[in-house]
Amino acid sequence: MTRSQATGRSPRPGAAVRVTRFDHAVPALTGFTLVVAACMALAVAGRVNAQPVRVQGEVQTLLARSESMHLKDPQQALSLARRAVQVAERAGADGLVRRSKAAVCEATVDIDPQAALPLSEDGEQASRAAEDLSALARFLGCRGYALEQLGKRHEAALVHESAVSVAERTTDRAALADALAMRGESRHYHGRYDLAIADLNRAYALDLALGRKDGQQYALNAIANVYSDGNVAEFDKAIAYYRQLLKDNEAAGLRSEVATMLFNIASANLQKGRLDEALADFRRAMAIDLELGNSIGVAESERSIGAVLAKQGHGDEALPLMDSALARFEAAGNDENAARVRISRARVLRMIGRHREALADLALAERHFQDRHNPRLLAQVYEVQADIHAGAGEWRKAYDALKAYRTTQELLEARAREEQGSRLRVQFDTAKKEQENRELLIENAHRGEALRSAENMRSLQRLTILLGTALVVLLAAMAVLQVRRGHHLRRLAMTDELTGMPNRRSILEYLEREIAGLRDGRAMSVITFDVDHFKRINDIHGHHGGDRVLRSIAGIIGTALPASARLGRMGGEEFLIVLPASGGDAAFTLAERLRARVGDASFEGFTADERVTISLGVSEGVPGDDVEILLRRADAALYRAKGEGRDRVVRG
Ligand code: GH3
Ligand code: MG
Ligand code: MG
Repeated sequence: MTRSQATGRSPRPGAAVRVTRFDHAVPALTGFTLVVAACMALAVAGRVNAQPVRVQGEVQTLLARSESMHLKDPQQALSLARRAVQVAERAGADGLVRRSKAAVCEATVDIDPQAALPLSEDGEQASRAAEDLSALARFLGCRGYALEQLGKRHEAALVHESAVSVAERTTDRAALADALAMRGESRHYHGRYDLAIADLNRAYALDLALGRKDGQQYALNAIANVYSDGNVAEFDKAIAYYRQLLKDNEAAGLRSEVATMLFNIASANLQKGRLDEALADFRRAMAIDLELGNSIGVAESERSIGAVLAKQGHGDEALPLMDSALARFEAAGNDENAARVRISRARVLRMIGRHREALADLALAERHFQDRHNPRLLAQVYEVQADIHAGAGEWRKAYDALKAYRTTQELLEARAREEQGSRLRVQFDTAKKEQENRELLIENAHRGEALRSAENMRSLQRLTILLGTALVVLLAAMAVLQVRRGHHLRRLAMTDELTGMPNRRSILEYLEREIAGLRDGRAMSVITFDVDHFKRINDIHGHHGGDRVLRSIAGIIGTALPASARLGRMGGEEFLIVLPASGGDAAFTLAERLRARVGDASFEGFTADERVTISLGVSEGVPGDDVEILLRRADAALYRAKGEGRDRVVRG
């Protein structure tokens, strides 16, 4: 949220609030700015919570861009604000629509202040209907800003009063800070220095608490402008503030604001009578504004340089500058400043003896300031008029002008007396301000702490949920692993390591189940076999060679078996085959085939005439058999096969 600073005498509303340029020739603040962008954060955080975050973000981005364009390209700023309205309308986000329309209003002021008036009035009505006080304060600010641009400062002052009282009723402190800043400047313009300082002080404190750097700068600048006012005449204090702001703006690369600060420093120096210093800074400010194409800024510098040159007695050099400044203000439709330049030009014209032209300028200025009830500027008009008439020997006219001058002066003095007491009380007191700042900083720190602890709480909750979830996942994973590990362990427990076949326990369990089928009249047989002279194989080929033979035999037999058969290793070089649904004959035939297969196979590392044979015992299960009985019969058959010369099948 920025209140950025505009150039020229007219501060911009919107986020971009302008650090106003102090008008040394007429000690009043013309510039003024309103600011709104800053309200945005709070408004978004608070009221518009219900809006979808995406729309909010989009609208906010458009509005921020619009505000940043106020100075550079008002048309572009306007079209961006209009787009924000469209986006908000499409999403049916009424709060955002109002806020965006307020931005449209503000952007319109920069192009056509008259056209902004109906926009702000419509906005005010809609905001009242929706009881949206933040938006209402913003629309009022827009109207006040527009009225000022139209030179209706009196009316503007009233609108700013309303804007503050509306903003006071909201929790939107950024809106309040902006309304106070604008009212403060308006009060300064009307010579209510005490009240102006009070408003600006509050705006500054709020901006400090909200951490709105630009808002603080804006308020400080406005406070410095009050100090720099001829009636307050605290020029050195003012310059100290301006220099601080100049440094900040230089560091931030804000060239337009740098020009504004140089202008303000020059104005204060001018009033102090330090003319050469003033001239140098006015010229630096003008150079920057020329470069930036800021015609109003250039016009202000031209008039000021002209005023300094006139003071130094260079009326001829001053006149073209006044002419140019007047042309620029008139081209911009800035009547107020045009009228002021006429007073300045009248002084120059009087200097160089062109009295008639001077009086013509003064007549126009008089009419303008009478319409606007501005006694201070009228006093200046009458003063110069009296001077000119006296110089021309027109004593009657000089007397009348002097009388008018006295009357307005008395009016101003009466007002000043009325303010005297309270002014002393509310004078911007640095020590007091610093104390308040410290308190605000502490309050800020506390708020920060509260926010942080709330954030910590949320983080903690998130962490708890996260850890909880992680724990559940972990437990589930562990359970799965456990099951898998169980399966794995079971598989390991049932598998023969060397051959990968079912081991003794596994094949016996299987046999047990299949034997049970015998009771139901289902046939089954077993074949048990043993490698012949395996000790010798081990002796010749080593233990590893023996292992290889065992694996090869397991492979040969395994692939030669029907799908229903199961092979297992009983231990050593002995194996067992369980044949479900097989009678003795089929088992015998199969055993013969297996014997032949192994006998015919060639083994790695074996010579061509080196054979590996197996002896097999076959036994068919009969009802009443158990594992032990059946195996005993098969073993006996195997034993007989060994005894009969090996490499053969015996049925038992
Ligand atoms: P037979 O024809 O009478 O069965 O003669 P054999 O040499 O095979 O006799 P026996 O059954 O007594 O010998 C078995 C040998 O097998 C004894 C043992 O060293 C060896 N053996 C047992 N388990 C393994 C094994 O896992 N790997 C290897 N390489 N040798 C084993
Ligand atoms: Mg053997
Ligand atoms: Mg053996």
